[in-house]
Amino acid sequence: MNKELVDFLNCDLQFIKGVGPILAARLADLLGGRRVLDFLLHKPHYVKPRGILESVLDAKPGEVLTIPVQIISHKKGGVFRGGKRAPTQVTCRDKLGADLVLQFFGTSFLEYWLEKLPIAEWRIVSGKMEFSGRNTNLTRGGAIINHPDFIEKLEDRHKIPEYQAIYPISDGLTQRIMANARDAIFAKLESINGQKPEIRKFFDAIHAIHYPTSNDDLAANSESISHAAYAELFAHQVAIALTRQKRKRGIVGRTLRGDGMLREKLYKMLPFKLTEAQNKAIEDIENDMARTEPMMRLVQGDVGSGKTVVALAAALNAAECKIQTALMAPTDTLAGQHYAKIKPICDTLGIVCDILTGRDKGALQKEKLVSIRSGRTKIIIGTHALFQDAVEYKDLGLVIIDEQHRFGVNQRATLVAKGCNPDFLALSATPIPRTLSMTIYGDMDISIIAQKPTGRIPIKTSRLSAERIATLTERLRIQILSGAKVFWVCPLVTESEDCDFAAAETRFEYLKARMPDGAIGLVHGQMDKKSRDKAMAEFADPSGKIKLLVATSVIEVGIDIPAATIMIIENAEKFGLSALHQLRGRVGRGSGQSFCILMHGNNLSEDGEKRLDVLVDTDDGFVIAEQDLMMRGAGELLGARQSGWVPYYFVDYREHRDLFKLATHNALELSESDPHLESDSGSMARDLMYIFDREVKLDG
Ligand code: ADP
Ligand code: MG
Repeated sequence: MNKELVDFLNCDLQFIKGVGPILAARLADLLGGRRVLDFLLHKPHYVKPRGILESVLDAKPGEVLTIPVQIISHKKGGVFRGGKRAPTQVTCRDKLGADLVLQFFGTSFLEYWLEKLPIAEWRIVSGKMEFSGRNTNLTRGGAIINHPDFIEKLEDRHKIPEYQAIYPISDGLTQRIMANARDAIFAKLESINGQKPEIRKFFDAIHAIHYPTSNDDLAANSESISHAAYAELFAHQVAIALTRQKRKRGIVGRTLRGDGMLREKLYKMLPFKLTEAQNKAIEDIENDMARTEPMMRLVQGDVGSGKTVVALAAALNAAECKIQTALMAPTDTLAGQHYAKIKPICDTLGIVCDILTGRDKGALQKEKLVSIRSGRTKIIIGTHALFQDAVEYKDLGLVIIDEQHRFGVNQRATLVAKGCNPDFLALSATPIPRTLSMTIYGDMDISIIAQKPTGRIPIKTSRLSAERIATLTERLRIQILSGAKVFWVCPLVTESEDCDFAAAETRFEYLKARMPDGAIGLVHGQMDKKSRDKAMAEFADPSGKIKLLVATSVIEVGIDIPAATIMIIENAEKFGLSALHQLRGRVGRGSGQSFCILMHGNNLSEDGEKRLDVLVDTDDGFVIAEQDLMMRGAGELLGARQSGWVPYYFVDYREHRDLFKLATHNALELSESDPHLESDSGSMARDLMYIFDREVKLDG
């Protein structure tokens, strides 16, 4: 792009003809930026056709009507009638003699409107036509337009666009303001010459998006949207590919190459054989660690796929090289669970392992910290407490983060900063479709554990109407008497009037009355931590009293209770598929047959039925995530708080999957053949990265 164009893209919107500082501020709120470029990337969401009709009789109520009419009479409103202020009415007549009434509410600008509609003159008016109350007789004044969008003289009919692009807008903005700003921007844009043909084509597509002539022009598969989406994806993928290349070339970490002795001993201690996928992940990790450049690897594996042992193998590899590992979990419970599993193994292997949580105090805490500082403690498990200032590591060489998606990017950076370019390993139980993970974790290498440990019996999943709760309860009672452990998940904590979610507390009382004494426990987010942990522990203990645990979705993450074999999820239709899959993953972890029952309201929609059937039919987290993505879109799948999530302007995950592949392929090719972006296509990529604000950066 030449300088003139770059300057114009960066031009503050207030300098655009007809905008000014006040509107520019409002636009900035809407667009998230106040440059011309921000406006260009804001696409209209639909098109209103405003083709001119001859007669009111041809119009359809609820649709836009654009028509030449003669003004017959004014009736001023403002007087109170039955407690309401009557609207001002202007009666008009079309050329076939049918009436159309224009209504204006409120008293401000009345004179202005009436002046625009002088009696006996002809005007073209345009707006949404409706019936006035019960009068549906179009020939006799039944048709009205409230506050027409356009009132123009006949010779100014060109001021009413035949196809009007409707933008998403916010308070203080109108479609007319948007259209005027757009026209001014494109008028200027067209006067800037001397662009390379590719950039021209890109801006032609942007032009077409802002001047659509039908809704098809705004569809994901239209030529212009596809063009813009590809450009956006390409910019993103090039940035990722280059970041990754730079990381690999740039930073020098250290080589950690253990002798594998501890790993072999670990394998002998495990009551199971590792799956092929686990072995492959460990191999990937050890290869990464042996390189000088720091590892950046994500292990993605469904719940229960056995990521912990993979992490442990990595930590042991570091320990063999006398290097410390920090293993961070999102909650105390999960950190404790890891510690309980890993500590005994480390003891046998003669490796010092410790746990740090926010609860550690006094002398004990001091002792722990000293041991970490001295380098004696090799594996440190904990929560955020791991990167408090007080914690000093002798030689932190490996950072492992469990349930990666629950941490922000900053936290990750702080922990990494504690070591000297440590190797970084993230574990995630949220299966993310390949298309998405390339976007979010694009700068990481990925190992996927798609395989479940062998010997696992697939969970039997079924749908059940909530009406059949009594039968279900009776069947559960029998199961419980013979020792089964049951999770019962409800979506909300307290009954709220306007929704029919089953409340955990109500459900708890209901079940308590029908189950063996003391067999029911309750956990939810509003409980204090102590009683929650207590109930959890009593449920986790195979010989503990609590057999059925009523819970809100607080149990969603990571909890490993092999004795639990039945999962009931109420109002399953209100959960996302991925969330349901996570919940279901709490059972099926032992050697027995497990069951999952998805309860739903009795007016389950066809769509809801289809959604739940995805879970009934498959246990593959990646397939489920893919389906979720197709059904709900990326934003919802990841949740608004997903760190590292980049919103796209033109890309639609559902529609642009092929473009994803193409853009990734081309970006990789470019990053290899022209890493400094010196060729023509390199310079194009540079321009697009500029436009879409993608930068090449180094992590950490
Ligand atoms: P997640 O990937 O969800 O973190 P975990 O690491 O907690 O899974 O493993 C779930 C359970 O499966 C644990 O009880 C673990 O001991 C067991 N496990 C792990 N790998 C295997 C395997 N290869 N064969 C059998 N059981 C395994
Ligand atoms: Mg885990």
